[in-house]
Amino acid sequence: MVSGNLPSDKQEPNSSVRIAGSNAPTKGEPRTYVGRFAPSPTGPLHAGSLVAALASWLDARAAGGTWLVRVEDIDPPREIRGAADDILKTLDCFGLVSDRPVDWQSRRTDRYAEALNRLRGTGLAYPCSCSRRALAAAAARRPDWPVDVYPGTCTTGPSRSRGPFAWRLRVPNGTVEFEDRRAGRVAQHLSREVGDFVIRRRDGLWAYQLAVVVDDAEQGVTDIVRGADLLDNTPRQIGLQRSLRLPTPRYLHVPIVVNERGEKLSKQTGARALVRTDALGELERAWAHLGLAPLRADTRDVFLRRAIELWRERWWPAHTILPP
Ligand SMILES: [Zn+2]
Repeated sequence: MVSGNLPSDKQEPNSSVRIAGSNAPTKGEPRTYVGRFAPSPTGPLHAGSLVAALASWLDARAAGGTWLVRVEDIDPPREIRGAADDILKTLDCFGLVSDRPVDWQSRRTDRYAEALNRLRGTGLAYPCSCSRRALAAAAARRPDWPVDVYPGTCTTGPSRSRGPFAWRLRVPNGTVEFEDRRAGRVAQHLSREVGDFVIRRRDGLWAYQLAVVVDDAEQGVTDIVRGADLLDNTPRQIGLQRSLRLPTPRYLHVPIVVNERGEKLSKQTGARALVRTDALGELERAWAHLGLAPLRADTRDVFLRRAIELWRERWWPAHTILPP
């Protein structure tokens, strides 16, 4: 599990806007803010995804930055025909429009292959043909081993020479730590708490972790604002960034929306599609979910303008704003 401080909105915002990491600009050369929203086309936009979209858009606007939309369409079995266009149309109706042409992960698989090759070349990726069942059996033989952690079956070579295989990342030994702008310090020991994780699946599809890390770096994303359900994915992504010698963005994980049973809103848990003709109402509800006081705007555009101002006061006080 991820450890970290309880989410608190009392925490001071970052006093610096410079990027940490190996590719960090030298002092006096701040990188311009680039943020993104990355929906999966598994259904229409719902209240939960709107909170993440709005928060990332506001953060980019408040920081004087660029906001991108990237469609994460690399898992065809889960995708719904027409969902991507539907999501983009809804974002458009809500005034949340990408500053650059929308990017599609399905058109970028050669970049993921290139990243995998680099990891293979440095001995950081290895094939694993173990099925779920084989892994469960291996874990059962080691009662002291946490159930969800890869038992390291193939670290020194595939256990079987036949059958499809996945590629796993040899995770760095030690704790990955980062400072979330809202949750504070988050730490996870990758090899003990996660184990070598899959970066290309046995079915040949690219794993989310690899695609997201490669794309964020290539698009120059400096700031990731997304739902807190992804907080415990972040150490894995930072581990991958380090293995590929890519910079680590700043992170802000915002509250997720849950239904009356406490489940994260999703198509599976019965989330309703947003009503395009009620952009103002839907945006107001997303804003309230972010814990911010009502804006009492009469129109969508007035709402968005006021929201940017308040977001700037909350997260980007004047002294930290980058010049445009
Ligand atoms: Zn294996």
